[in-house]
Amino acid sequence: MAKNNTTPMMVQWEAMKEANPGTVLFFRMGDFYEMFGEDAVKSAEVLGLTLTTRSKKQENAMPMAGIPHHALDRYLKEMIKAGIRVAICDQLEDPATAKGIVKRGVTRVVTPGTLIEESCLEGDNNNYLASVAVVGKYAGIGCVDISTGEFYVSVVGINSVGDELEQMGVSETLVPVELMQDGNVLSEALYARSIGLVTKRDGYEFSEREGRMRIKEHFGVDNLAGFGIEDEPVAIAAVGAILVYLEETQKIALTHVRSLKRLNREDYLVLDRTTQRNLELTQTLLSEGSGMSIFKVIDRTCTGAGRRLLKNWLLRPLIDQHYIEYRQGAVRELLEQSSLRCELREILSGISDLERIMARITTGRAGGRELINLHNSLLKLPNLVKLSEAFLSQHLIDLSGIIDLLENVVELIGRSIVDEPPVNLRDGGVIRSEYNEKLSELRAVASGGKDWIKNFQSEEQQRSGISSLKIGFNKVFGYYIEVTNTHKDKVPDTYIRKQTLANAERYITQDLKEYEELVLGAQDKIFALEMKLFVEVRDKVACEVERVQKVAHILAVFDALQSMAEMASAQNYIIPEIAIDIETEIVGGRHPVLDVTLSEFTPNDTAFSDSNALVHIITGPNMAGKSTYIRQVALLGIMAQMGGGIPATKARIGIIDRVFTRVGAADDLAKGQSTFMVEMAETANILNNATSRSLIVLDEVGRGTSTFDGVSLAWAITEYIHNKLRARTLFATHYHELAELGLILDRAENFNVSVRDWGGDVIFLHKIVSGSADKSYGIHVARLAGIPLGVTDRAREILDGLETQAIERDWDIVHEGEVLRAAAREVQNELFAPQAKANDRLVVELAEVDIDNMTPLMGLQKLQQLVDIAREYTQ
Ligand code: ADP
Ligand code: MG
Repeated sequence: MAKNNTTPMMVQWEAMKEANPGTVLFFRMGDFYEMFGEDAVKSAEVLGLTLTTRSKKQENAMPMAGIPHHALDRYLKEMIKAGIRVAICDQLEDPATAKGIVKRGVTRVVTPGTLIEESCLEGDNNNYLASVAVVGKYAGIGCVDISTGEFYVSVVGINSVGDELEQMGVSETLVPVELMQDGNVLSEALYARSIGLVTKRDGYEFSEREGRMRIKEHFGVDNLAGFGIEDEPVAIAAVGAILVYLEETQKIALTHVRSLKRLNREDYLVLDRTTQRNLELTQTLLSEGSGMSIFKVIDRTCTGAGRRLLKNWLLRPLIDQHYIEYRQGAVRELLEQSSLRCELREILSGISDLERIMARITTGRAGGRELINLHNSLLKLPNLVKLSEAFLSQHLIDLSGIIDLLENVVELIGRSIVDEPPVNLRDGGVIRSEYNEKLSELRAVASGGKDWIKNFQSEEQQRSGISSLKIGFNKVFGYYIEVTNTHKDKVPDTYIRKQTLANAERYITQDLKEYEELVLGAQDKIFALEMKLFVEVRDKVACEVERVQKVAHILAVFDALQSMAEMASAQNYIIPEIAIDIETEIVGGRHPVLDVTLSEFTPNDTAFSDSNALVHIITGPNMAGKSTYIRQVALLGIMAQMGGGIPATKARIGIIDRVFTRVGAADDLAKGQSTFMVEMAETANILNNATSRSLIVLDEVGRGTSTFDGVSLAWAITEYIHNKLRARTLFATHYHELAELGLILDRAENFNVSVRDWGGDVIFLHKIVSGSADKSYGIHVARLAGIPLGVTDRAREILDGLETQAIERDWDIVHEGEVLRAAAREVQNELFAPQAKANDRLVVELAEVDIDNMTPLMGLQKLQQLVDIAREYTQ
């Protein structure tokens, strides 16, 4: 740092900078937050600000940039998006009354994982901060959303850390710095994973001892048994590290983070990031059509909390048969009882995002509107309880049985806060007059004012006989009596002159002055009292955070359940039978997105059985519907295990422990994923981790390399899955060679997508049928498309030749391109053959001509002969 910034304020700034390493410091000065030095350069670039210098006189003066304080949220959002941590340094005392330099302090460090600003958060998404602690082969993972108060912890094998974090979808991950060096286990486990901003922290923050102490302190407990992590050092360490970080960044105790829930990986269907992406669960692949993710299509929730929960259910479907059936019972009831569902939706529609409101109430950031939203939401609860009398399914009965009406909270807010509070607390008028006697008195004084002034004015007019006398008010002089110069003589002696204008004089009187003090004093007192009362009410409500959170969760569950029922009703879903073996049968299955977006979607059947059709090899031309079909099967499995309905006419789903997907390079157009290496790494992941209860979806594996390579790999992989893993597998491929496998392996079966010639056009029927596709379907399609019979016959000949010769060339090209081109050349030869023959003969005849020994007549005769030859071939 240049030594040229030694004003006291800059000393203050430097100290702040030092205490908050790795952050950009937003330093409050007057109405602005200012950034200096490198912070200024970085912020100017990210936020598009103008860069100036602090002192223009000096050489190498310090760069500086600033933002208006009221626009803080907007700029914070940009900084966080750019992956930058921001330390917010505020003035801790009023600059007007401060002696010397204003006291300043960092009030909060804002990072991607610790956002709480409503404007920076998306209602639909949780915002998770995670941490990873490692002991030996195990890792503890902590995961908190401070905008809602949810806190989870899990213990997994080190190799599953990446999957676990990706399944949660985290914004920021805390890791011990020592474990993130190159080649270390953790850095390898997290390599190339989507885990948000990686924040490296000191190793001691991840110690079990520190963690144990922090957890006890934060949750106010004596031991950790209640959280199920008493004997799990890694879990304790991970949770502890989060608590340290929250204390450091938030500066206040987060009392709304009240529960800690242990998650067990074995309790959920595992969907890694690749699979989430390939199946377009929450985001669409840019390259592909409809632009609708599964979530977008199935989401029929009415509340923000319900939406987040449904998304969690989609990304973390269940695996326990009884639990799935428990949810199904509720969904079935709400599906069948449409009026019940309607009423439930009606109630839920009036409910605000209670989790987020409570986070803001407990951190002291909520205003009057939020309290009223909480109040109005809670007011709906009695209706819900009434509605629940009709419930028959166990799940709905259990849920409604634990609804807490929170009457004391409703009563308190209802009694204290006005119906429509101002957006800003500073505007005043948030507390009801009836709530506090003193407030009511003060208000009477302040508002009684208008009448008093009116009376006073008419009294003075009569007393002085000046009918144009007026009472006015301005900020400098307060209340005054104004008399125009024409009536100056009539002014009584008791008037004290205050101000002279061009055509009038302004006076005050003792009475007016006394009155003014009362009124103005009252307004200040009202404001101070209102703030005090408001904070009291807010704090009282904050004390009930646990109860409100419980109700919020119940409401979210109701919402997610009704959403599944609503969706099932809208699209004619059925509730599938759930089984623990792997026998799986779907009749009339549809792809959930295309089912909604296409006017005519062809349903397909699927059946897996341990004894025969376990590995399905699906061949068929491009655009036949292979990719759609294999994804559809995986999606229906996932939706079934969410406990809701699925688009089919009948189904039995054998519980899936994990869905694996691999989409071949040529089919995967999303950025940065098109290398063969990635393809093989993903395939390796499948082969190493799939179990006999997994569902494997392979779309064109082996495309990223030459055909012989590709076919061989795909072949070997399929054999391995079939023989060793014995997992349900759908393998779509355009390598018809692989159809051999369907014949050789006993539990593999061939399928193809039927194509039909319809009045000379190729029609894709999108129907999956038994048997492999016609080996030379490319030629078949060419024929259907109107290529002459001679050409396609010849193409078949060439193909047979090529196949027997087994030329070392890329089959892709040979098969789909070269073959047709070769055939086309042959046709050309046929077409142009007569002319070629004519040329040949003409050349031969001409070469034999001996001009020296020819008479002119002989010359003419020769010419005639050549012309005849030419004519013979061109007629
Ligand atoms: P492939 O993988 O065989 O090349 P896709 O699965 O990508 O084919 O499907 C191509 C297009 O065909 C899809 O975008 C969709 O519009 C349509 N399609 C696929 N399956 C069906 C179906 N069962 N019913 C109706 N249209 C379908
Ligand atoms: Mg495809």
